[in-house]
Amino acid sequence: MTANDIIDIAAATPRYNFHGHTQFCDGHAPMEDFVVAAIAAGLKHYGFTPHSPIPIASPCNMGEDSVDEYFAEIRRLREKYRDRISLYAGMEVDYLGGSWGSWGSSCSYIQSLPLDFRIGSVHFIPAGDGFVDVDGHFDSFKVKMSRYFDNDIESVVKSFYAQSIKMVEAGGFDIIGHFDKIGHNASHFRPGIESEDWYMAEADRLADCIIDNGCIVELNTKAYHQHNHRVFPSERLLKRIIRGGTKVIVNSDAHDPALIESGRQEGFELLELLNKS
Ligand SMILES: [Zn+2]
Ligand SMILES: [Zn+2]
Repeated sequence: MTANDIIDIAAATPRYNFHGHTQFCDGHAPMEDFVVAAIAAGLKHYGFTPHSPIPIASPCNMGEDSVDEYFAEIRRLREKYRDRISLYAGMEVDYLGGSWGSWGSSCSYIQSLPLDFRIGSVHFIPAGDGFVDVDGHFDSFKVKMSRYFDNDIESVVKSFYAQSIKMVEAGGFDIIGHFDKIGHNASHFRPGIESEDWYMAEADRLADCIIDNGCIVELNTKAYHQHNHRVFPSERLLKRIIRGGTKVIVNSDAHDPALIESGRQEGFELLELLNKS
């Protein structure tokens, strides 16, 4: 499968989803439960995206030692449900870059895996001589802001977008995951931050880099119902990339089979509105 195949599928039907987590990382159910839920929801294409192995300790990421088992399970499920749904082996690959030999989708280990597609995402940013996960729940983000970043939210936001630009330039992935996700925790930390000029300039620089590099963007609806209709990227950034000709697909990033379609209908409606405007 290529990035163009993903674009073709998304152009042909809304009955797909290319972002979801299972027992292989921080998802809350076995892969087969997601397949059953996807079929029940009428999906025809489902892509699994466990958080990739990474060379730092992380409770959310799969270990290298379970990668073979993951591919074996995909093969088993593909065979079992072949008449009902097309299943794809993906990964949501973390980008660390820098001192980790440009760890990310473009690194030789990830490229050597027989993946159908890759989502490139930034969840970690550099801190001291290591990395800190800034993607989690706000309560833990707040603790980390004080512990590792001296409560300097501007430097954290800038670091997130700088990492994201390096990831896009390094390439090796098909879809960029939730590309302004830092805006969510940053907004909790300092309400209104996403409307500040410097913030918008940082996010716009990444959006323009995405446009120039021709990545597929996901409209990530994971937070839609939980967080006051928030989607990633924000409506403002979506408008900018659509104007720039970027292809957008709608993914739920479900960690629970019951949420497999959560926010997707609303995501399509938003896209339709923006495409008309
Ligand atoms: Zn993610
Ligand atoms: Zn995810």
